[in-house]
Amino acid sequence: NEFEPILITSGDEIEELANVYNDMMQKMKDYLEQQKRFVSDVSHELRTPLAVLDGHINLLNRWGKNDPEILDESLQASLDEVQRMKKMLEEMLALARLENVDLSSSELDSDVSKVCQQAVKNFQLLHEDFEILFDNQLVYPTHARISENHYEQGLRILLDNAVKYSPDDRKNVVIKLTEDEDYVITSVTDQGIGIAKEDIEHLFERFFRADKARNREIGGTGLGLSILARLAENYQGAVEVSSELGKGSTFTLRFPKIM
Ligand code: ADP
Repeated sequence: NEFEPILITSGDEIEELANVYNDMMQKMKDYLEQQKRFVSDVSHELRTPLAVLDGHINLLNRWGKNDPEILDESLQASLDEVQRMKKMLEEMLALARLENVDLSSSELDSDVSKVCQQAVKNFQLLHEDFEILFDNQLVYPTHARISENHYEQGLRILLDNAVKYSPDDRKNVVIKLTEDEDYVITSVTDQGIGIAKEDIEHLFERFFRADKARNREIGGTGLGLSILARLAENYQGAVEVSSELGKGSTFTLRFPKIM
C-alpha cells in the first residue's frame, strides 16, 4: 500500500488541489510510520525486562518458599525490573508526546537564567556530594523560545547523565550560559567516564547505550538523549556533544532567542 503522489502540472486549481492532497497523504504516512516505530520499539524494549521478570518469578515459585536468600534476591531484582519498565514507559510516552509544538505560542518563553538557577539549586539538594558550578555569562535577562517545562526537562536529562556517568572521585559539573546573535547556549560539562568516538554518532538514537557491560551497573533506558534531540529539533534548536573517553563530556544546547 505504497502512497504515490498524484502528479498534475496543469498550473490551475486542480494542480493546487492535488498538491494539498499529496501533502496531506505524506503527513499521514509520516505519522503512521512514527506510530509503527513507536509500537515496535516498545515491544522490542520491553521484551528483555519481561524475560528477566519471568525468570525471577519462576525462581521464586520453585525455590523461593524455602530459600530466604533466593526470596530476597529475586524479589528485589523483580522490583528493580518493574521500576525500569515503568521508567522506560514514561520516557517513551514523553517522547511520543513531544510531537508538534506550536512555535507561535506565547507560552514558549524561558527565562534561562532563572530556570538554570532553579535547576542548579535542585541538583545541589539531590546530590550533596557533587560540586556544581553555575557559570552564567549572560549580562541581560535573556529568553529562549521554548516552554520552561521543556527547557527544564532538557537540563535535567543532561544533569542526570552527568551524575550517572561520573566516577566517585570526579563529581564536578559546570553549567554554563552564553549567547550568540540568534541563540541562547547552555552547556553542561562533567568530568565523567566520557564517550568513545565511535559511539558519539549513535548517542541520540533511541535506546542506545554505550558499552553495555559497564552500563548494566548504571541504571538507564537509553531514551534521555533521544528526548533531548527531539526537544532541540522541535524548538528549532540544536544539541551537540564533545567528549573524551576517560576525561569527561560537554553537551551543548542551543535554543532560539526571543528578541
Ligand atoms: P541512559 O542514560 O538512560 O542510558 P541517554 O539517552 O541519556 O540514556 O544516554 C545514552 C548513552 O549515552 C548512555 O547510556 C551513556 O552510554 C552515554 N552518555 C550520556 N551522557 C553521558 C555522559 N555525560 N558521560 C558519558 N556517557 C554519557
